[in-house]
Amino acid sequence: MTEYDAIAIGSGIGGLVTAALLARYGKRVIVCESHAIAIRCSAYV
Ligand SMILES: Cc1cc2nc3c(=O)[nH]c(=O)nc-3n(C[C@H](O)[C@H](O)[C@H](O)COP(=O)(O)OP(=O)(O)OC[C@H]3O[C@@H](n4cnc5c(N)ncnc54)[C@H](O)[C@@H]3O)c2cc1C
Repeated sequence: MTEYDAIAIGSGIGGLVTAALLARYGKRVIVCESHAIAIRCSAYV
């Protein structure tokens, strides 16, 4: 089973930046997005 150090809920700018920073420092991160399209900026749609 794959294990992660962190789970980012939502692929908005907040989730993606957090996930990218954690990954940059060696953490295993998964980003979970409820919408079919990632980075959709739900505030706009
Ligand atoms: C009309 C409008 C214009 C704007 N213009 C600008 C601008 O010009 N410049 C600027 O810098 N900012 C602008 N903003 C603000 C900017 O859009 C937001 O501040 C920014 O998108 C917030 O990012 P976020 O990651 O917090 O949330 P979001 O971008 O909303 O991302 C959240 C993500 O989480 C997902 N999600 C939600 N619940 C769940 C769940 N339970 N499980 C999994 N996934 C989930 C959503 O589908 C979404 O993809 C604007 C906002 C609005 C409304």
